[in-house]
Amino acid sequence: MSTIAANLQAVEATIQSAVKAAGRPASSVQLLAVSKTFPPEAVLEAIACGQRAFGENYLQEALDKMRSVARLAPDIPVEWHFIGPIQSNKTRPIAANFQWVHTVERLKIAQRLSEQRPPEMGPLNICLQVNISGEATKSGVTPAELPELAHQVAQLSNLRLRGLMAIPEPETDVAKQRAAFAQLRALYDSLCGEGLALDTLSMGMSGDLAAAILEGATIVRIGSAIFGARQAVVSK
Ligand SMILES: *Cc1c(COP(=O)(O)O)cnc(C)c1O
Repeated sequence: MSTIAANLQAVEATIQSAVKAAGRPASSVQLLAVSKTFPPEAVLEAIACGQRAFGENYLQEALDKMRSVARLAPDIPVEWHFIGPIQSNKTRPIAANFQWVHTVERLKIAQRLSEQRPPEMGPLNICLQVNISGEATKSGVTPAELPELAHQVAQLSNLRLRGLMAIPEPETDVAKQRAAFAQLRALYDSLCGEGLALDTLSMGMSGDLAAAILEGATIVRIGSAIFGARQAVVSK
């Protein structure tokens, strides 16, 4: 078995044991394989194992990779999720090439994505990135500004607001990991209580996926545990 195949099995096993511990249905967590910095061949290997959803952070790298994957595996429907920072001059290709965007933090960006989404593709699935306390990247809308942004984005016609995303500070203590995810979960519950029809909590990476699932994650974004350690990234 290849390394990627073995890693995917191990990640699936971790997901299933966390789902069980949380008393949640086995199918309630989707694995997003984060393939940034890895070549199309790595994506194809994961596809051969049955993986269909991939996350990318850098637009040009993602577009090149999508093209290669579509050429080499033309009959397989692959779902691409954009999970990197969004520059406003890059919204058009994002809207035209991805099924999901996890990193919306401003109304202006959401409006552009909605205007530029090709209608025949159907609505673009959106998560709002929230800067829960101590977030390492400092990206994301603040919890205080989240409700207004969420209600505005929910009105945009070519978007479908699905839920929230966060990248908490890396933390090895499971109780602290859970506390950060619980904050995102509380914000999510409160938006649902205000009538927004959300179904997605995008949280949990290689180092903290079990804690995220215990706190209600529905999408875990896993890179290095599947594809191996990344080289240092030069910004693209
Ligand atoms: C790189 C990245 C991941 C995956 O991180 P790993 O620790 O390698 O699992 C998940 N989410 C986002 C937003 C990322 O940028």
